[in-house]
Amino acid sequence: MRIGAFIPELLRHLFKKPATVDYPFKKLSPPEGFRGTPYLHPETCIVCRACERDCPAEAIEIVELSAAEKRFRLTIHNDRCIHCAQCVDSCPTDAMRMDDKYEIAAFSRWDLKAAWEYVRAVVKPKAPAPAPAAPAPSANPPSDNG
Ligand code: SF4
Ligand code: SF4
Repeated sequence: MRIGAFIPELLRHLFKKPATVDYPFKKLSPPEGFRGTPYLHPETCIVCRACERDCPAEAIEIVELSAAEKRFRLTIHNDRCIHCAQCVDSCPTDAMRMDDKYEIAAFSRWDLKAAWEYVRAVVKPKAPAPAPAAPAPSANPPSDNG
């Protein structure tokens, strides 16, 4: 192939705007609907446990700290979170939300855990949170021969 065949293409690209940004010096805003990291808004959490129940990665853990005070700790294990937003969909009080951060790498998985200690809120839920549909049975079940 002749080298001259590339010249027009080369000249065209010399005067075009770059297709990429100069990351990390310049940053793009995430698109609408981007699923970042879940976080709790404890003021409206009624501790219904729908988020804990429905999380497919078992990344949410709720522990009762004091029955008398109705005090709880909710931990999001972001080292296990797959950013599916099911917890947000399941939450009947909008207490579980997603941010739009994407620079979330950490040197240790322990740095990725987020926890809140709070007293159970008394707010009216929107509607009962339905459980997600169970996965369809496989068309090819595993054989007994392994
Ligand atoms: S975003 Fe998905 S994986 Fe992460 S905590 Fe919520 S339900 Fe679990
Ligand atoms: S689903 Fe919402 S209200 Fe229920 S425990 Fe989770 S964050 Fe709290």
